[in-house]
Amino acid sequence: MDSILPHRSRDAVHPVARYGTAVLTVVAAGLIHLLLWPFLQGFSPFLLFHLAVLLSAVRGGIGPGILATLLSAVFVELILLSPRGLIALTPLSHLFGLLLFCAVGFSITWLAHRLRAAERRSARSEAEARTESGRITLIADSLPVAIAYIDPAQRLTFCNQAGRDFFKLDGSEVLGRRLPDLLDPEVYPRLEPHLRRAMGGDRVTFDFALPDPDSAPAEIRGTLIPDCRQRAVCGAVILFEDITESKRVERSLQFAYNRLREANQELESFAYSVTHDLRAPLRTMEGFSQALLEDYGAQLDETGRDYATRIIAAAKRLDMLIRDLLFYSRLGRTEVESQKVPLAEVVDEVRRLYKDSIQERQAQVRVRRPLPTVYAHSGMLVQALGNLLSNAIKFVPQGIRPEVEIWAERRDDFVKIWVRDNGIGIDPAYHAEIFEPFRRIHGSAYPGTGIGLAIVRKSAVRMGGSSGILSEPGKGSSFWIELPGGEQP
Ligand code: ADP
Repeated sequence: MDSILPHRSRDAVHPVARYGTAVLTVVAAGLIHLLLWPFLQGFSPFLLFHLAVLLSAVRGGIGPGILATLLSAVFVELILLSPRGLIALTPLSHLFGLLLFCAVGFSITWLAHRLRAAERRSARSEAEARTESGRITLIADSLPVAIAYIDPAQRLTFCNQAGRDFFKLDGSEVLGRRLPDLLDPEVYPRLEPHLRRAMGGDRVTFDFALPDPDSAPAEIRGTLIPDCRQRAVCGAVILFEDITESKRVERSLQFAYNRLREANQELESFAYSVTHDLRAPLRTMEGFSQALLEDYGAQLDETGRDYATRIIAAAKRLDMLIRDLLFYSRLGRTEVESQKVPLAEVVDEVRRLYKDSIQERQAQVRVRRPLPTVYAHSGMLVQALGNLLSNAIKFVPQGIRPEVEIWAERRDDFVKIWVRDNGIGIDPAYHAEIFEPFRRIHGSAYPGTGIGLAIVRKSAVRMGGSSGILSEPGKGSSFWIELPGGEQP
């Protein structure tokens, strides 16, 4: 409904215009009264001035309304009532009439003001609603998903831009149309059961193919959300999303995953054959060389025995290499299921496993207790810490008693496990590369395969942690493994 009041904001009109209008309106009322005087005999002299006050208040607000009331009172008193030209407040009925007019004038002004304020409020909330709905339409139109709303008769009452594209119709055509008329006759029957479920109050998600005469059918994911109000379904929101591309990516990912699984299985069986088929002849070589030394050692000269001994050493080394390499390659493929592991138990197990080397070198292994709990794979951690302990004993020059210290420190959610030795130390230039497979920086002076630290690093990473070193030549080395603390979920 259109307002009876002017739409332009009163505050935007200049005060001179508002008050001037009030004065002119009163003067006009006075002139009309004078002109119509013969016909207005018997009517109240204030009759037309009520109208002037009303117009002034409506157009100008409270101030002009009051001004019009007072001016009208003065005009009537001076010009219309006798004695003319004088403000006479007697008799009492005269004064009473003036006061009554002023009271009515002020009331009219006040009511007009309230009416005006209510009109403004409703105009403002209407404008806000229009802005809000415009904003929602803009958001809906910028989404790549087709969004529509249907009533229980499956008539569209809302549709965003992607929806209009989906139904291949423009704005005016699409609203009010029924879904069966909008969808392909082959497609609608496939949607119909889902629509029925949604109108029964269920949220439904389903996929279907949308035929396209120009290319392959598009794959669409439909979602129907019932609009339930007061226990009744009064419509449903429809979402249609084109998932052709994501399905294609999903399929190629699945394909790649299957290829990877196959390759992994091949690698697994290759590793199996390496373990059994390669190591078996090695053991034969080693065994027969040993037999040669034991059974025919007396018939061989010094050089012959030396050759046989070298064959045994080489076979052993190759066997170790194959074993370490297999372990390293399996590390990257096996599932790691970490759990809470008391570090004290791991360290005790490592010391038990390396008892012989510790005794052989008369090494002193000191453990700073108590040790915390870590979140790790126990077997992997035993192997990694074992490698660090064995290196800590190994890389100490002969004649010096190895001294190893093991401790742990908590830092936020992580635990850092340290293994420090009094060995030969490592130049910082090599700190990064010693963690790579086969990097041995002290040559053949110390036995080994060059895989130990690579296993340490990979194990730490697989368990969600990291590893590193602090060392200088001649000043010993401190290796560390950092793992999530045992309080982790
Ligand atoms: P390996 O011990 O079989 O040689 P690792 O991978 O365990 O192989 O170590 C790689 C290299 O890092 C070693 O050859 C050695 O040069 C150096 N290294 C490892 N641990 C120590 C250590 N505690 N002190 C000095 N050097 C070390």
